[in-house]
Amino acid sequence: MKINYSNGKRIFREHSEGIPYLSACMLDGLGVPNLFATRFISWDDDKGEGTEGLRTSLMPGDDISGTAPVIQEFRDRLAHLLGSSIDFECITDQRHTSHVHVASENDLGIRWPRRLPLHRQYVDGVVTDVPDALLTAFGGDCPPVYLADPVRKAVGLVHAGRKGTLGRIPAVAIARMIVNFGSEPGNMYAVIGPGVCQDCYEMGDEIYDEFASRWGVPDAERIFRRYPSGRYHLDLREANRITLLRAGIPEDHIAVSNVCTACNADTLYSYRAGRLENEGTAMIVNRWEEK
Ligand SMILES: [Zn+2]
Repeated sequence: MKINYSNGKRIFREHSEGIPYLSACMLDGLGVPNLFATRFISWDDDKGEGTEGLRTSLMPGDDISGTAPVIQEFRDRLAHLLGSSIDFECITDQRHTSHVHVASENDLGIRWPRRLPLHRQYVDGVVTDVPDALLTAFGGDCPPVYLADPVRKAVGLVHAGRKGTLGRIPAVAIARMIVNFGSEPGNMYAVIGPGVCQDCYEMGDEIYDEFASRWGVPDAERIFRRYPSGRYHLDLREANRITLLRAGIPEDHIAVSNVCTACNADTLYSYRAGRLENEGTAMIVNRWEEK
């Protein structure tokens, strides 16, 4: 597995034995099982290396009845890497909202593939304090944001694309954790996962205007830059880092991925790079292992 790290720092690390995946060093340090999947999700244990192109998320135009069971089986293999299974999984339909669901035991193991019409709930993030719950999110350039509260033993995972970022979905998730679990942001940790980098994320002026009107011009100036092409580029990572800081997460409790999905399109799924047969899969388990 060849990953380009923009600044050489290992915010995520590679696991190359069997099914290759990345995990966030900060969450590993807390003993919280987590992953970000690559394009390679091996179907055959004996192969010893990943097989490309096996799907974990439904895409528009899929035949749901035929495709969903297979996709769930592949996702189950990812879950097994974390000592979990899709029987404990909670996923959302990811509609580019900033809505966050508080998952109870009743939400786990529902085998609803995303975008199933019966389960459109317009939710893009989940938080939970149920032990062993598995949260899964997808993104083909949109970074996942992982949240962990070691005091209340609770975790969260949100899909922070451009619209969710604009709606400050990480702050919505943190607010849910405060209200429902008694979490204190000062105790919490956050990881902004692999997603598109600023160089790869060109935007129309209207998107700058949208952020400037909702976030104010000073923040917009921090997260947008005009490139020599004359076009704006948006820094989704910095935008979400600002949101996490404002929500009270200490600066040294925030890890920002330096892995760009578009720059690493041979290894990761990227919409911008035109490699979106599937989406990247992020997972976190609410389990706190002894280190
Ligand atoms: Zn890039």
